[in-house]
Amino acid sequence: MTGIDDLPIRDELRGKSPYGAPQLDVPVRLNTNENPYPLPEPLVARIAERVAEAARHLNRYPDRDAVELRTELAKYLTRTTDHEVTTANVWAANGSNEVLQQLLQTFGGPGRTAMGFEPSYSMHALISRGTGTGWISGPRGADFTIDAPAAERAIAEHRPHVVFICSPNNPTGTAVEAETVLRLYEAAQAARPSLVVVDEAYGEFSHRPSLLPLIAGRPNLVVSRTMSKAFGAAGLRLGYLAADPAVVDAVQLVRLPYHLSAVTQATALAALEHTDTLLGYVEQLKAERDRLVTELRAMGCEVTDSDANFVQFGRFDDSHAAWRAILDHGVLVRDNGVPGWLRVTAGTPEENDAFLDAVRAIRKENH
Ligand code: PMP
Repeated sequence: MTGIDDLPIRDELRGKSPYGAPQLDVPVRLNTNENPYPLPEPLVARIAERVAEAARHLNRYPDRDAVELRTELAKYLTRTTDHEVTTANVWAANGSNEVLQQLLQTFGGPGRTAMGFEPSYSMHALISRGTGTGWISGPRGADFTIDAPAAERAIAEHRPHVVFICSPNNPTGTAVEAETVLRLYEAAQAARPSLVVVDEAYGEFSHRPSLLPLIAGRPNLVVSRTMSKAFGAAGLRLGYLAADPAVVDAVQLVRLPYHLSAVTQATALAALEHTDTLLGYVEQLKAERDRLVTELRAMGCEVTDSDANFVQFGRFDDSHAAWRAILDHGVLVRDNGVPGWLRVTAGTPEENDAFLDAVRAIRKENH
């Protein structure tokens, strides 16, 4: 049998594994930070209508610049972040992973490096590697916040070309203060002109306002967003960024022509028409997230403050054994490899109850 390593693949990919959480068929799946609420029926009907209209023109390539979609995304951002965003500030792609990949293809690449503050979203390192960009793991404090002086020192020492700041951070749930972002931006610009990417995939779930207004007057600052979480549309694959129009122009150099299908654009536009309903679900999920934090703490678990739609909890002597024990109670959570800690996504109230019962049961079994 031929294996991957028998093929003439790039050396840096040898022996590596692809990204992916185990997808097990269990009653309660709270492991991939998805939104538990299916899209409401009126939105499903509207998607069918808009996709039918798009289907009438599928003999043609889609709008290469996705202007209507970018305009609606700009309106959404303006409305929800109190910062005026125009079509020229916004770019969209197939999931924010593709947005990040386009940014690394443009601003990273062979001979260049990217830095993130770990533990953080593992795809930042993986997409860096996939684009030939060197990866530098920056520090995070014991409480999982970014310690600004330590991060500034790491930036000054390594002079990365791209800096990732994930806020709220996956897998810890930790939000980053605007002041910290500004300090790291200044440090990164002092080291060399470099791109600072604020990954706000979970921005809508935060107790704090978006960091997006910081892009004003900072052409090397990008905020990336997604419809996968707050809009409950992980299957749609629609991510976007807001930045200086020059950044949007720059990513045109690497995007594939017609990368965003007409069906994707039509579906995303339909979802944006139902923003208010979808943001109503976000409010419910925020309340459930806060309930998970409170109830886990009441049980005696340690819990990291969360601004996302998931909660990091522990501490376990053997987090993998705890993951397995929770799974034995029919609930799938995520072991992100952070020693002592596990991560649970906020689900429906019933799913969260099942999770809390499972944790209560395993704590009893261990005492
Ligand atoms: N950024 C972060 C921090 C994430 O957790 C995720 C999804 N797990 C993404 C980006 C990518 O999401 P998508 O490609 O679905 O937009």
